[in-house]
Amino acid sequence: MKKSLLSIVLTIYASQLLGKQKIDLLVTGITVYTVAEEGEISNTIAIEKGRVIGIGTDIELNKNYEARRNINAKGYIFPGFIDAHCHFSGYALDMYKCDLVGTASFVEVIEKVVAYDRTNKLSWIYARGWDQNDWTVKEFPDKSVLDSLFPDKPVILKRVDGHAILANQRALDMAGITMQSDFKGGSVEKKNGNLTGILIDNAMEPVENIVPPLPEQEATSYMNKMEQECYSLGLTGVVDCGVEGDIIRLLEKLYAGNKLTISNTTLLSQSKPTLEQYMKNGPLTKNNLTVSAIKIYADGALGSRGACLLKDYSDKHGHRGTMLSGLDEMSAIADDALKYKWQVCTHAIGDSANRTILKLYASKLKTKNDLRWRVEHAQVVHPSDYHFFSDYSIIPSVQPTHAISDMPWAEERLGTDRVNNAYAYKQLLNQNGWLPLGTDFPVEGINPIATFYTAAIRKDKNGKPEEGFLKANGLTREEALKGMTIWAAKSVGNENKKGSIEIGKDADIVILDQDIMTVDESKILSTRVLYTISKGEIKYQAK
Ligand SMILES: [Zn+2]
Repeated sequence: MKKSLLSIVLTIYASQLLGKQKIDLLVTGITVYTVAEEGEISNTIAIEKGRVIGIGTDIELNKNYEARRNINAKGYIFPGFIDAHCHFSGYALDMYKCDLVGTASFVEVIEKVVAYDRTNKLSWIYARGWDQNDWTVKEFPDKSVLDSLFPDKPVILKRVDGHAILANQRALDMAGITMQSDFKGGSVEKKNGNLTGILIDNAMEPVENIVPPLPEQEATSYMNKMEQECYSLGLTGVVDCGVEGDIIRLLEKLYAGNKLTISNTTLLSQSKPTLEQYMKNGPLTKNNLTVSAIKIYADGALGSRGACLLKDYSDKHGHRGTMLSGLDEMSAIADDALKYKWQVCTHAIGDSANRTILKLYASKLKTKNDLRWRVEHAQVVHPSDYHFFSDYSIIPSVQPTHAISDMPWAEERLGTDRVNNAYAYKQLLNQNGWLPLGTDFPVEGINPIATFYTAAIRKDKNGKPEEGFLKANGLTREEALKGMTIWAAKSVGNENKKGSIEIGKDADIVILDQDIMTVDESKILSTRVLYTISKGEIKYQAK
């Protein structure tokens, strides 16, 4: 029904009479978890021009404010979740690719690829997400079947962790990879004098380069789809790791035109053209996009035995993995970062990679500081190296779902002693008193509730193992919540604007259908998002 002029005049008159301030939005729920220092008891938030201007009870706030829109939800209000390490744009631009996540055998991989190609309009096949650890035969596959099915079309099948590719002969030919190829920080697998098609780490690059970029319109629509998916799961912020220059240009354009709105802190890829283009101009901001850090790869991943360890892999003698970047290269990037005011974030999984990068950071940072240089994953840390994190204010950035995904084989790779210093989130938290959490999606799923559950409960979705995986290094629910909100914001220098519900901060809010802080652990994973609000705008509402 259309409001009559008289009723509008009366409303204005009444609100002036009562001294009520007109605002954009009042959000009322059952409880508000502000995650601020003094966690006040409240159930309502007042929002104006994208910012929080009041927190209190519905009775108090309704007295003071008249909102153009009201949300009354039977739910629990939290600060919008922030993923402190993910691949937002990488995943978006991966969406056209054939999805192999969860395949139970190589036969199933082939079936999926063949089915995908029936409607594939591109001149190549790119699939991602296989994991031989999920198969009965837990060995790397080879390219022979792909060669017979696709002799003329390049086929690239990327492993779930992004650190290995199975390519067919056509792709290898186009990329110029032969038996003689040799890569620093990468390897080309051979068996009985032939290429198997398996390429590890830096050896993947020539094959990746044969794939042309998606047209801008298509790329934009996948970015929008990705953003909607994040909002639907309660995320209002992402730290987008290792993005190439041409994609950052697209992000700049989309954020400048408000075509993307999710808060995004982008980490430059360490590739030469990207650094050359962006480094010297210093960090940049466009609306909710901030490009302010550099992502370096020190080593590979544990699943593909590419993580660089101080001693042999327990399940592969004589093998310790390799560094992907030389010390000179990483040192030069760090120097430039100091000079041009960039944050440095380095992927380090093995204890050797962690030691190398911690020592490198220490040599540049010299003392405690507020630069927030991060170690991504910090997955296996030698007991004598933890002190570097606190001595030089280095921030470990961890992904609790990794612990549970790796649980079935982590001890095989590392042995009993080393595994006790892996996924050691509590110990890492204790170094600086705070710890940002992320997912690394698409390596893991996007859902932040899974991060909360695995961080605090340390079990899989079936509630196994009963005692929790390496439970001594689990976090409390309060710590897990902070890791996904205020500490995630702090890990990219954003804690004054984001990460908690406080007056003056951006109104980034999620409303959940149950109280994850108190509900029985068996129910946490079934939590649903009712609303997601970003800078005071409703971005998602459950149907
Ligand atoms: Zn990552």
